[in-house]
Amino acid sequence: MKKALITGVTGQDGAYLSKLLLSKGYKVFGTFRRVSTPNFWRLQNLGIFNKVNLIPADLLDMGSLLEALKVSEPDEVYNLAAASYVATSFEEAIGNSEVTGLAVTRFLEAIRHQNSDIKFYQASSSEMYGNNNFSLQNEKTPFLPSSPYAAAKLYAHSIANIYRQSYNIFTCSGILFNHESPLRGMEFVSRKITNSVAEISLGLKDKLILGNLKAERDWGFAGEYMEAIHLMMQQDKPDDYVIAMGKSLSVEEFLTLASEYAGLGDWHDFVKIDESNMRPSDIDELTGDSSKARKKLGWKPKMEFNDLVKHMVYHDIDYFKNPTV
Ligand code: NAP
Repeated sequence: MKKALITGVTGQDGAYLSKLLLSKGYKVFGTFRRVSTPNFWRLQNLGIFNKVNLIPADLLDMGSLLEALKVSEPDEVYNLAAASYVATSFEEAIGNSEVTGLAVTRFLEAIRHQNSDIKFYQASSSEMYGNNNFSLQNEKTPFLPSSPYAAAKLYAHSIANIYRQSYNIFTCSGILFNHESPLRGMEFVSRKITNSVAEISLGLKDKLILGNLKAERDWGFAGEYMEAIHLMMQQDKPDDYVIAMGKSLSVEEFLTLASEYAGLGDWHDFVKIDESNMRPSDIDELTGDSSKARKKLGWKPKMEFNDLVKHMVYHDIDYFKNPTV
């Protein structure tokens, strides 16, 4: 039986990846941070909370990473943990960079010294491209990060490559474009929108405050993106892959559709734009070219933008009608 260790198992991707690996017969270990309020709702939502072996570990604490490797003895490590909210990386630049960037070196050092046969996946991000003026981004497109988050991700991406070249460790980085789901954190714009239109449609609130509606992103469904990650780790040779839908749509288009699915009509009636919700610098547009992953991995996502928005809105309406976890 293969064993996988997932960092950030309490996050959106951690939950979907755990579910996928369990369905493939893996023994799944997941690291979590000890916090005052337990944060296992996503694993509970997917009905897998009791199936994942939980290990307390903080990416800032080398000892806890070593212990997690010792306890789990994994064949594959999926490093999904990060301070993943771009806006916060401007407010807590140093702490966030430690977790998102430098911690990856700590982890790779731990693997190098403990068992260099362990395969390592690094969760890289389309944010690393920044405003680079290329209309479509692939694995060869230059990076131009425009936030502390993106700079830290680029550091981590580079160090994963360096450990592959220098120590022959199997490291793969997935450059994932935005992927969303009903398990997305409430602070992210997609979920903020679907959650709010659900509440407004049920008369539970009357306003939604947003920032930059013009930003265009390439949106896909998180569950399907985890399939790509797993496929990358099963290849004979480690490599980096862009994972994306290949089409970008604006936050405004997301909002318009979400409002329609919630039966609310014109969003101007309930949305207020607040300048304080804008990032100090934002990326205008990101569109990914995932032809390498589609060709080499045979990965093909099915959920299109409209279905994704509908899935999230309907889920949130159901939730407010009948709150469970
Ligand atoms: P998420 O829901 O925010 O999950 C992040 C996870 O990291 C959480 O489990 C969080 O734990 C954990 N974490 C944060 N700081 C930590 C620390 N110091 N030590 C240990 N764990 C820590 O993010 P996601 O959407 O699942 O994304 C997964 C990964 O993919 C992240 O690295 C993200 O940056 C990257 N990514 C995401 C997207 C996207 O569109 N979703 C796109 C590209 C790349 P708590 O629950 O305790 O906070």
